[in-house]
Amino acid sequence: MDFKLTEEQKMLKQVVHDFAEKEVRPQAAEWEAKAEFLPEDCLKKMVELGLVGMPLPERYGGQGQTALDAILAIEELARVSPPAAHPVFESSVGPVRVIEQFGTEELKQKYIPPVCRGEMSIAVGMTEPEAGSALTDLATKAVLEGDYYVVNGQKRFVTGGGVAEAYVVYVRLGEERGARGVGGLVIEKGTPGFSFGKQEQFMGFRGIPGCDLIFDDCRVPKENLVVKQGEFRKLMTAFNLERCGNATMCLGIAQGALEEAIRYSQERKQFGKEICEFQAVQLMLADMAMKVEAARLLIYRAVFNAGVGLPSILESNLAKCFANEMVREVAGLALQLHGGYGYSKEYPIERMFRDGWGWGIAGGTIQMQKITIASQLLNRRFDQRR
Ligand SMILES: Cc1cc2nc3c(=O)[nH]c(=O)nc-3n(C[C@H](O)[C@H](O)[C@H](O)COP(=O)(O)OP(=O)(O)OC[C@H]3O[C@@H](n4cnc5c(N)ncnc54)[C@H](O)[C@@H]3O)c2cc1C
Repeated sequence: MDFKLTEEQKMLKQVVHDFAEKEVRPQAAEWEAKAEFLPEDCLKKMVELGLVGMPLPERYGGQGQTALDAILAIEELARVSPPAAHPVFESSVGPVRVIEQFGTEELKQKYIPPVCRGEMSIAVGMTEPEAGSALTDLATKAVLEGDYYVVNGQKRFVTGGGVAEAYVVYVRLGEERGARGVGGLVIEKGTPGFSFGKQEQFMGFRGIPGCDLIFDDCRVPKENLVVKQGEFRKLMTAFNLERCGNATMCLGIAQGALEEAIRYSQERKQFGKEICEFQAVQLMLADMAMKVEAARLLIYRAVFNAGVGLPSILESNLAKCFANEMVREVAGLALQLHGGYGYSKEYPIERMFRDGWGWGIAGGTIQMQKITIASQLLNRRFDQRR
């Protein structure tokens, strides 16, 4: 077992680190204050650096790298600004991977190259007003009429909503109840009958768009079926990779909070000395570092074992769940260590605390993740409806 990154990976990490410090950090606070989406020029630079579509195949314009490479880049960017990490997240571990893994050749050729060029982002619409954790209760219907699926229904809290050019939408394709009736359709922004709700005002995630998707007799070409009815498991398998990205957002935010805490503890003086000289403060720093490192190892293991494919359900869920809890604890400790200044918008810690919290809801709540982990350990499914 080798815990060392390769020379190429160390170099990649350094390049992204430098980019985050020079190009992102000076603007990050302003994006946050104005809830601005990532400016075009910043995205363009990320495309030039090869950070968009990193693990997508070279024949479709991707970089052909591993999921671990992408995870290293996401971590470095999320350390400074989650909105800057978001395009790497979406294009490396997001719903475009459903198309790459399970789509037809036509769908791959149509959607993957523009994603790699930074001209298109693809979001995922799963959640509905009445189907959150109980995802397989989803009611958005797609009925085949001639060459089109006619889609009716509503999706909630879709990250990228309104801004993404295309959506992998989980739909009910037949009368069968639960997962057996569900498949996935790619639906493009601008398709008649497809509109958006108002932008969400979340406590965090500022600068990352999100809203409802509304389908009213929306006619989608039948070729856009990416996952057939009864293949819900495929959607979830690809989503395990997205969960590793979710965990990495937590890792990056927590690493950023730890660095702020280390710096502040050496600047702030009370009782005539730097607060890092108090043992209680040292214990807080040690607790933070232990948790960050443990999350990092769980995430790296899940994606390293995935290689260029998809991670295992157990390893990805362990990584996500641990990182979701970890970032809440670490950002909370870092805030506490900053005293009143941590609670002030003048410092980045309160933003990290708010941003960190959301990832334990997005992509499946911590509680639902734990149920999945237990069911893997016990090798049994626990039907939550009975
Ligand atoms: C920032 C953010 C980004 C998101 N991005 C997307 C996106 O891009 N696409 C998308 O489709 N969705 C997205 N979501 C939606 C997210 O996936 C759902 O919010 C989440 O799955 C929970 O659903 P819910 O909000 O309806 O809560 P509910 O399912 O109503 O859960 C409420 C509470 O009950 C608990 N609970 C429910 N059932 C059980 C059970 N059986 N056992 C134990 N506890 C239970 C939950 O853990 C939770 O604490 C996002 C959400 C957020 C906050």
